[in-house]
Amino acid sequence: MTEALKSLMDVSAVTVDGTEISLMGNISDAEGLNNVFDNGGEGVGLFRTEILFMGRSSLPSEDEQFAFYKKVADNSNNCPVVVRTIDIGGDKEIKYLGLAKERNPFLGYRAIRISLDQPDLFIAQLKAILRASAFGNFKIMFPMISNISELRRAKELLEQAKESLRAGNIAFDENLQTGIMIEIPSAAIMADIFAKEVDFFSIGTNDLCQYTLAVDRMNEKIEHLYDPFNPGVLRLIKYTIEQAEKNNIHVGICGEMASEPLAVQLLLGMGLRELSMNAGSISEVKEIILNTDIENAKELCGRVMEMTDSDSIVKYLKEQNRAR
Ligand code: PEP
Ligand code: MG
Repeated sequence: MTEALKSLMDVSAVTVDGTEISLMGNISDAEGLNNVFDNGGEGVGLFRTEILFMGRSSLPSEDEQFAFYKKVADNSNNCPVVVRTIDIGGDKEIKYLGLAKERNPFLGYRAIRISLDQPDLFIAQLKAILRASAFGNFKIMFPMISNISELRRAKELLEQAKESLRAGNIAFDENLQTGIMIEIPSAAIMADIFAKEVDFFSIGTNDLCQYTLAVDRMNEKIEHLYDPFNPGVLRLIKYTIEQAEKNNIHVGICGEMASEPLAVQLLLGMGLRELSMNAGSISEVKEIILNTDIENAKELCGRVMEMTDSDSIVKYLKEQNRAR
């Protein structure tokens, strides 16, 4: 990191016109959280919990999970931490769950689909997260939601987990907010409906791109087609933000696009006020924010949304970036 970027570490992310932007980090453990704070992040927009389930031979117990999540809560200085329930399957293989080899793992038995299919596993995780919520400012988030029934069932199981803790007089945050990843096109298209049943959205552009464009995010041969500036992807992101605003719920972004320098002004212009990313990108994004005027960003967004192809969009954003 350059000295200039380092000097921004303790500066708040505020645009030229005074709009405050939350810059958050994506983490997988307590060490990652320290890294976020060291880089000037204000909290955690995505805590990927699956790392605890990987590279071992059996499921972590509820107590083991509790200790893992509590460590993050204990180190969080009461900053917001969005804890995502397991997103295993797909590229993240877990041998001891005996998952069958699938022809299309990214379209298969993955994330919330596994959690809903194996309620004991899910409830153990929910109870562990809830117990840890007594020690910090946690929110809970479900990955890979594609229809409203999945969300309702996940919330039912969350309620069961809460009931069981209440029955045992075990403390947890009764006001814990519940949200979903918007990373499957159907969820983005139904953002108006989902917004009425959750407290927040987090836009997962990594998978949203993959599924909107039918491009495997791990396949190098077609990586030129994996394009967050495809107008189809941009429309879904913009619609999601608009519906969150309309329904007065919070919306953030936690996919890689949040740290793509060309995308930052566009995302602010669409209305995003929270960006979550790998800790190492926070200063660079902050520098862009400090040089952004929201009215200009809205105008830039308006121009981009009229464009019909990604090449023109990227060319325009590069020109604007140079002019900035
Ligand atoms: C995403 O899909 O954008 C995301 C943040 O989740 P993951 O990369 O863990 O699939
Ligand atoms: Mg994802």
